[in-house]
Amino acid sequence: MKFFFPDSHDLVDPSFDFVTEARSETRIRQRNDQYAHEVFEAPPYSGLLVSKAIVDGTEKGSGKYTIAQRHRLLRVGVHEFFRIGDRPLETMGDCGAFSYVREQVPPYTVEQVIDFYLNCRVDYGVSVDHVILAFQSEESAATEAGREALDGYQRRQDITLQLAREFLTLHKGRKLPFTPLGVAQGWSPASYARAVKELQKMGYTYIGVGGLVPLQSDDILAALSAIDKVRKPATALHLFGVNRCEHLDEFRDYGVVSFDSTSPLLQAFKHDRDNYYTESFKYSALRVPQVEGNAKFGSRIRAGEVNQDQARKLEQACLQGLMRFDRQGGSVPRLVKLLRDYDLIHDGRKDRSEDYGKTLEDQPWKTCSCRVCRDLGIHVVIFRGAERNRRRGFHNLYVTYHHFHQPT
Ligand SMILES: [Zn+2]
Repeated sequence: MKFFFPDSHDLVDPSFDFVTEARSETRIRQRNDQYAHEVFEAPPYSGLLVSKAIVDGTEKGSGKYTIAQRHRLLRVGVHEFFRIGDRPLETMGDCGAFSYVREQVPPYTVEQVIDFYLNCRVDYGVSVDHVILAFQSEESAATEAGREALDGYQRRQDITLQLAREFLTLHKGRKLPFTPLGVAQGWSPASYARAVKELQKMGYTYIGVGGLVPLQSDDILAALSAIDKVRKPATALHLFGVNRCEHLDEFRDYGVVSFDSTSPLLQAFKHDRDNYYTESFKYSALRVPQVEGNAKFGSRIRAGEVNQDQARKLEQACLQGLMRFDRQGGSVPRLVKLLRDYDLIHDGRKDRSEDYGKTLEDQPWKTCSCRVCRDLGIHVVIFRGAERNRRRGFHNLYVTYHHFHQPT
């Protein structure tokens, strides 16, 4: 099972000092900062997924790439841009269809997307698609409201299939140097199966199943089961945006050979509590936000709700206490109380003491073999600033990837 990591220009600064929180003055971001595959001895994924929407910066409020970076990627290709070197990493290109899901039609032509793949020099290129943001069981599709909604869904599926046909025709005609993936979009098990049948008829043998991200696992499995009934033995499936480790064996049985997901990285700093993965449990990272440069703190300090000196003192007491605990152990309840005292002035809406206690009792970073945990120690579970949070995301990628590569 291959795991592709969707790039969104996530790098860490190797010169960052976790005790002083200073960086090297000679750091040049583009040259010195590291991708996850440069941080570990071996990459924590099988490949990189590069989306046109991310590179172009059309994704809502992102602008992940500067104009210079975008030009450089399109000039030198993914291999050189991501400094892949001789690492065993494959590369896949797609459009990033979720970024334009609200549009009537995809904003890119097939020609534009093919140009993007050729400039990037990816190993796999995904046909242009349009996401259907809905899922109906066969029962709900039979209701009146269900039938009304179908028109819109059918239109999006037709667009996706038509673009897949154009994509493959151009691919064959011009003998393009990447492997084509056709996208199946659907809104029910039967409609997904129909899409796969059509794509196989066109000649696709590698099919990406899209629009699954918001679905419940049972619905995903129902769709895959329906697809499986029409799937030719030689047809392999890719799941877009899906990371459900617990169903790995079923996915494999349904012909899934690859998937991609950003959630291991994003959960490190977006999930309310499941921030640090281990094989058996997801731990809560310990929130010690910076007083300096923190908008929420700033407004509370200006409003007189928070005393700046007291906040700074508590912040430092938490950081020093955690570092001391990592070196020489100590009382978990006392540390949890300190974190709670700080929490009460920066947020306080939720008492996280129990979750924090578990993280500190179990000390999962001490038994993780990944390089991030070995290098950072307790800093990997401190929820604070991009350098720590992103590295915790890299650790999550490592744990996820190793889960898929365990002998079963
Ligand atoms: Zn680790």
